[in-house]
Amino acid sequence: MTSNAIRKIAIIGGGSAGWMTASALSNALQGSCEITLIESEEIGTIGVGEATIPPVKYFNAQLGIEEAEFMRETNATFKLGIEFIDWSKCGKSYFHPFGQYGAEFDQTPFYQYWMREAINGNTAPDIDEFSMAWAAGANGKFQHPEKDKRKIQSTFDYAYHFDANLYARYLRGYSQKRGVQRIEGKVGNVSLAPENGFIQSVSMDDGRIIEADLFIDCTGFYGVLIEQSLETGYEDWSHWLPCNRAVAVPCENASGQLLPYTKSSANRAGWQWRIPLQHRIGNGVVYCSEFMGSSEAEQSLLENLDAEPLQDPRHLKFVTGRRKKFWNKNCVAIGLAAGFMEPLESTSLHLIQYGIMRLLALFPDNNFSPMLEQEYNALTSAEYERIRDFLILHYKATEREDSEFWKYCKNMQVPDRLAYKIDQFRSNGILSSDERELFHNPSWIAVYLGQGVFPQRAPALANYRSKVPVNERLGQIRIAMKEAVEAMPDHRAYVDNYCKSAAQ
Ligand SMILES: Cc1cc2nc3c(=O)[nH]c(=O)nc-3n(C[C@H](O)[C@H](O)[C@H](O)COP(=O)(O)OP(=O)(O)OC[C@H]3O[C@@H](n4cnc5c(N)ncnc54)[C@H](O)[C@@H]3O)c2cc1C
Repeated sequence: MTSNAIRKIAIIGGGSAGWMTASALSNALQGSCEITLIESEEIGTIGVGEATIPPVKYFNAQLGIEEAEFMRETNATFKLGIEFIDWSKCGKSYFHPFGQYGAEFDQTPFYQYWMREAINGNTAPDIDEFSMAWAAGANGKFQHPEKDKRKIQSTFDYAYHFDANLYARYLRGYSQKRGVQRIEGKVGNVSLAPENGFIQSVSMDDGRIIEADLFIDCTGFYGVLIEQSLETGYEDWSHWLPCNRAVAVPCENASGQLLPYTKSSANRAGWQWRIPLQHRIGNGVVYCSEFMGSSEAEQSLLENLDAEPLQDPRHLKFVTGRRKKFWNKNCVAIGLAAGFMEPLESTSLHLIQYGIMRLLALFPDNNFSPMLEQEYNALTSAEYERIRDFLILHYKATEREDSEFWKYCKNMQVPDRLAYKIDQFRSNGILSSDERELFHNPSWIAVYLGQGVFPQRAPALANYRSKVPVNERLGQIRIAMKEAVEAMPDHRAYVDNYCKSAAQ
């Protein structure tokens, strides 16, 4: 290492962001940096964030975390996707599955043949019926996907539902074993170097001063370093993602049944989540305060629980958007301190993971080259914007006009890039996607079709390939799926056998 290498890192904040960062840095830097994490029990954490998407598996794998142990410790269950209820219109639901539709049997993609046949009325009009994730989920079944790509059981993917507080605690143990020092207390003051505005140290309320070369702001919505001290600024996306409040409460799992997917049910000014964990169900209503008051949101949440609430409901406020810079001088903001785009597609923990991996890939020395900062900010902004557009699609592509909220969403102007994508799909059945998209083609297909954006024509190539026995193949795929699902174990039984937690 050069004499200019970063030697001291201070992470401020001990929610999921803080402890995910501490784990990944302590693992990657192998003891060559002193890492300190400051957290305040008095302030506490946001305490929600229970649903994830498949890349979280790679984060855990990189840390060498054993899946069954991690699931036991966090009361986790498997997640195959999200069921969206009443989003496009009341009474209609669709599934956003993890994994692909059908199976590829020709050089022309499966979805193009399906589209051709669906437009001609020759196959099931609902593409959900070709998703293994949906077929297993709808039957309450789960097993790990097969590795053999020739098998239909290899065509789905999965993520987890888990208790976010327990995940942070688990990673705290992991980090401390790798030398991360934890300091309990509140940061009251941040000292900036007069010559360049870099952070020199943070002072605790009890007078302790913590110095570091690199500071990671994981203080959640407070943004103690990135905003309160460095005044980086925030790009507000409320006009595209108008929900700005949430109320959350866990309840018992009275039936004992364990669905391997999240439910998202739209209401008149937002939506309600249902996330099944091993020992309870997490619930919350996300809504826009311009169209719904907090007492109506709370009442609507409590009326739609499976069983008695286990706590008093917790109310939360947020503004959708992102920091104008995620990396500013010698400070990098990760987690809610960096931005928040509402929990609709469970992307926040992924953005934490992405932020950490980018930081490691562009790790600075004490020169803090502005080019590294620039690259980090450009890549992270683009990742936020791609995810943002996917989320906006859920609100924009609705047929609902039964409330002022849905009328607003249906008629709002969307970013040009998203408007172009929707037009391409609607006019030509073409998926205009960037290869760096977190959400790949099947996710866009699920939401387009589920929300009622149906193409006027199938992409042309499918029409030229008349020798391919498409209907026979579609039939074979459905039979293979049916047999595979019948042979799968019940999700609850699989979890009990694989990773039953002590809390059950
Ligand atoms: C309603 C809602 C639902 C969500 N659902 C999901 C989901 O399903 N999936 C998903 O991926 N994400 C979800 N999220 C996002 C997820 O909760 C967060 O991304 C994640 O928990 C990380 O939070 P954090 O660590 O950035 O902040 P926090 O959990 O708020 O932690 C902040 C930390 O900073 C500390 N701190 C603050 N100020 C100071 C100070 N002055 N001194 C010392 N310490 C300080 C606090 O004590 C705490 O330890 C949801 C968010 C909301 C609001």
